[in-house]
Amino acid sequence: MAENLMQLRSQARIMSHTPEEVARYVCDNCQLIHAGAPSRTPAGKRRFEPPAECGGCGADEFVGIENWIHHRADE
Ligand SMILES: [Zn+2]
Repeated sequence: MAENLMQLRSQARIMSHTPEEVARYVCDNCQLIHAGAPSRTPAGKRRFEPPAECGGCGADEFVGIENWIHHRADE
């Protein structure tokens, strides 16, 4: 009985695990938002890279979405 309860608790913990946040990049030219391409660092940590070029306009300048407002507000 106690064992079942512990099993339930650990399952609940797994299910409430928040999904990894995907980095997003805004095209500096046309403002299309791209999902970062996931890759792993040599240490095994997840990281994201901006796409090589924008699928909308072909530009290759991207700003991380967390920096976007600041980036635009500076202009
Ligand atoms: Zn673009």
